Amino acid sequence: MIDLRSDTVTRPTAAMREAMMAAPLGDDVFGDDPSVNRLQEDLAARLGFEAALFMPTGTQSNLCALMAHCQRGDEYLVGQMAHTYRWEGGGAAVLGSIQPQPLPHQPDGSLLLADIEANIKPDDAHFARTRLLTLENTIGGKVLPMDYLAAASALAQRRGLARHLDGARLFNAAVAVDAADPYAAARRICSHFDSVSVCFSKGLGAPVGSVLCGSRDFIKAAHRWRKMAGGGMRQAGLLAAAAHHALDHHVRRLADDHALARRLAEGLAGVPGLAVETPQTNIVFADVADAERAAGLLPFLKERGVLATGLYRLRFVTHLDVDAAGVDRAIAAVRDYFKA
Ligand SMILES: *Cc1c(COP(=O)(O)O)cnc(C)c1O
Repeated sequence: MIDLRSDTVTRPTAAMREAMMAAPLGDDVFGDDPSVNRLQEDLAARLGFEAALFMPTGTQSNLCALMAHCQRGDEYLVGQMAHTYRWEGGGAAVLGSIQPQPLPHQPDGSLLLADIEANIKPDDAHFARTRLLTLENTIGGKVLPMDYLAAASALAQRRGLARHLDGARLFNAAVAVDAADPYAAARRICSHFDSVSVCFSKGLGAPVGSVLCGSRDFIKAAHRWRKMAGGGMRQAGLLAAAAHHALDHHVRRLADDHALARRLAEGLAGVPGLAVETPQTNIVFADVADAERAAGLLPFLKERGVLATGLYRLRFVTHLDVDAAGVDRAIAAVRDYFKA
């Protein structure tokens, strides 16, 4: 099976498992798991933040971030398709009593500065208090331009909003910006935000885990919410060691995933009835024109040993456990389907 459903499906490599087995452990609820502490300190330093907090999932990381930035009755500005709005079960509203103000995306994934500005509410009892701007990078596999980040950040600061980045795939964005020094690129992206959440269970290939970064006071507040959300884990160093291994060894290689995504898109180009978007990172979208043709495609691919998601808009995600031969098999299977 070649599994292109998501970059979350990767299995830990042998070297990652070794790092996990060798990790010194403690009880992280007491703050004494050395492997968790080392990951938090190292990532915070690398991304230019004072502090960081290891989280079981990206969803919990974003939730704790929103709850640390906002009080009950506050509001955050967010994209219609953003994970923190659409894909987290409404957690900010349900658990945080924080109102989302969703905004439309531009074709490049960004939110128009004019839309942001127009949706900042005046200080008036009729309105929720607009407190926070939340962006996502990459968003739908697209990299937000650095000058856009600077402009959105400046606008937020001018209007007194805090700035959170859902950087589930921060390092995919960083590699796309500067493959030669992705750590420096990641730091540049993060310089425009007060807090950033990074997933290790996506393209970085760890089994579990995200890390939230921010100021010492912000992380202290998020730590309280994490405990309340049930995210206080004990010998979590086992997992932090996997994430740390990924941070040290799996960042630069994201460029390979991006190259395979381009190979896939090029291989699918020109298939009649299929419109393929040129990928910027590791996610390829392809729109199927004909509804009837679309319905049979995923089952056909599965029979041929290829897993993907979507229906009219197919999604293929490359990752650590996919190679060029697998991508070529996926291309051949899709081509055969549309030939028949
Ligand atoms: C995967 C993802 C998350 C977090 O997801 P979890 O499954 O909770 O770890 C957050 N934001 C984005 C953009 C994601 O892709």
